[in-house]
Amino acid sequence: MTSNKQPEVNIGLVGHVDHGKTTLVQALSGEWTDQHSEEMKRGISIRLGYADATFRRCPEEDEPDAFTVDERCEDHDADTDYLRTVSFVDAPGHETLMATMLSGAAIMDGAVLVVSATEPVPQAQTEEHLSALDIIGIDNIVIAQNKVDLVDEERAMQNYEQIQEFVEGTVAEDAPIVPISAQQEANIDLLIDAVEREIPTPERDPDADARMMVARSFDINRPGTTWEDLLGGVLGGSLVQGKLEDDDEIELRPGREVEEGGKTEWRPVTTDVRSLQAGGDFVDEVTPGGLLGVGTGLDPAITKGDALAGQVAGPPGSLPPTHEQFTMDVDLLERIVGDDGGEVEEISTGEPLMLTIGTATTVGSVTSARDGECELALKRPVCAEAGAKIAINRRVGARWRLIGVGTLRG
Ligand code: GDP
Ligand code: MG
Repeated sequence: MTSNKQPEVNIGLVGHVDHGKTTLVQALSGEWTDQHSEEMKRGISIRLGYADATFRRCPEEDEPDAFTVDERCEDHDADTDYLRTVSFVDAPGHETLMATMLSGAAIMDGAVLVVSATEPVPQAQTEEHLSALDIIGIDNIVIAQNKVDLVDEERAMQNYEQIQEFVEGTVAEDAPIVPISAQQEANIDLLIDAVEREIPTPERDPDADARMMVARSFDINRPGTTWEDLLGGVLGGSLVQGKLEDDDEIELRPGREVEEGGKTEWRPVTTDVRSLQAGGDFVDEVTPGGLLGVGTGLDPAITKGDALAGQVAGPPGSLPPTHEQFTMDVDLLERIVGDDGGEVEEISTGEPLMLTIGTATTVGSVTSARDGECELALKRPVCAEAGAKIAINRRVGARWRLIGVGTLRG
């Protein structure tokens, strides 16, 4: 057995603001890996909200009571056995952060939908986040009915039935609903049991080319660092396939916008891997699961301030094409999700749409719209494969609202 604690699966924590996502991550992660406070890790955790958790099992207990995050059994004089390390991506529940949630969803292998027992179901982002999971195709879902310590049994039952009714006909229809109290750490064992069953570690192809979805990028140098001490640009994100090693050559797409002879054009950027950080440690090799920090040979001016967020990295020549415009098949929702949701009208030529493709968020202008498909010209190009799922958002009033799913044409 290896002692490698690199997380092997990414689990999203989604749901309405204040329903207890962050409290639940705390209850599950026991030890926070971001106690290792290197600047690059701190950066990753602030925006994406992320913590690794190690699930364990007490050999002296029967399941599901046996599941825990503690290293010692609660009621026995025994150590617990290691099961697996998972990485939680704590999605922001606030409505204005929907784009962050959608791009975070690109690196989720499954999700825990947190629903508070103290409020009617569904609240706006409970519904919106569930639609987003549906659109992006995340169907390994566990529902945590949280804050049951604040309601009596009858209200808990009513709320449970409301959740059942709400998920009927959705991607979460068969998801187990586990009543918990994240704050009191009640039924956490049952929740781990459900996650172990419903959100398995995906099978990975060990021979696939590395592909990293870049969610963040930074310049980790302190102001005033002299050039000989300057560290290269850092990428934060997650591998969806393959493995990365120190010294690997990588390409980033779409890359950079370069100006030449009065024309601008996007060109891939090539660099090499100088350091790898995963699960709080520097490592020689990383595989899918968890958020990574990849130190590169790039000029930090290029990676500063998330400039490369939304890009894709992998061995040169292995990445999907870059699109400055594309055609997508469109499947619109019947009505706008969330509160005051009206009917979704057809997409029309000339309207701006906000699109999330992988970890990239870009605005496009509709150049042609027909029944069930549309063509867009993008402000910032994206690197994506034919068949990629695209979350489509339309400006309604003061904010972007999720209106449907697109599929990239080849
Ligand atoms: P988030 O916005 O979904 O991340 O919600 P938070 O985790 O920040 O929780 C919002 C508030 O609800 C905080 O004050 C928590 O202490 C409280 N809270 C979370 N879970 C529970 C619970 O199970 N029981 C009780 N009583 N309060 C909780
Ligand atoms: Mg939170």
